[in-house]
Amino acid sequence: MADADAAAQAEHARLVEYVAHQARTLVARRWGLAKPPLSAPEPPHTKPELTTRHGFEVKNQKQFPPVFTTVPTKDKVVFLTIDDGAEKDPALLRMMSELGIPYTAFLSDYLIKDDYGYFKEMQDRGASLNNHTLHHLDLPALSYARQKHEICGMQEVIRKRYGTRPALFRPPFGNYDQDTLRAAKSYGVRYAPLWDEEVFVDHWEYREEDRDLHPGDIVLTHFRGREDWKGTMTDMIRRFLRTVTGKGYAVARLEDYL
Ligand SMILES: [Zn+2]
Repeated sequence: MADADAAAQAEHARLVEYVAHQARTLVARRWGLAKPPLSAPEPPHTKPELTTRHGFEVKNQKQFPPVFTTVPTKDKVVFLTIDDGAEKDPALLRMMSELGIPYTAFLSDYLIKDDYGYFKEMQDRGASLNNHTLHHLDLPALSYARQKHEICGMQEVIRKRYGTRPALFRPPFGNYDQDTLRAAKSYGVRYAPLWDEEVFVDHWEYREEDRDLHPGDIVLTHFRGREDWKGTMTDMIRRFLRTVTGKGYAVARLEDYL
C-alpha cells in the first residue's frame, strides 16, 4: 500500500513538472526562444567570500568595497546587470517577468529622471536598482569632492525615489580610483561589481582570452534601443539567453550571492 502511494506521488510530481516545463516552453516560444531558460539553483546558504580581482586593487584595497568581475561559485550561473537607463522599453519588463529572469540595474540620474516611474515598476517586479552616479562622468578625473557628489548624490536619489540606499555601485566606464571607493563606502556602498562579458544586440565582448562564460560571471548590458543599436532590448535579451542557455547556464540573482 505504501509502495502504491509512493508510486502515485512520484507520478503526480512527474506530471506537475511536465506541465510546468510545457508552460515555460510556451512562454519562451512567445518571446522567440526555442528553449526555456534554465532554472537557477537555490541561493547559497554560505555567501562566497568576495575579494578584489587581481590587478584591480587600489591602495589599501582591503578597507574599501571589493571590485570584482566574477563571483566565486561552482554553480553554473551567470548574473545579468543592465546599466545607464536611456531606453525605457515596457516590453523588457514584461519579458523578464514572464521568463523569470533576475537582473540588477545600475542607473545614472541624468538618464532616468524623465521617467522615474519606469524604474519603480522594474523594482516592483523584483529588480534591484543601484548606483551608477548622477551624470556618468569619468570619476578619476574629478576631485574627491566632485566624486563624492556624483556617488552620494545618486545614493540619495535612489533612497528618495525607491526607498533604499543601494549596497551596489558601479563606476561609469569601469573607471575608479581610491577616492571613488572611499566616497562610495562613506555612503553605504558595500560592493563594486564590474563585469566579465558585455552583450550587445548583435555581438558579445569577452574580457577573458578564452572568450567563454564561467560560473559566477557578471554580464553587462545597457538600457539601449534602436537609436543606439540595431534592435530592441528584447532582441538583446534573446541573444543573451540563447548563449547562456545554450552553454548550460542559468541566470541567478547577483544579490543572492552577496
Ligand atoms: Zn554606464
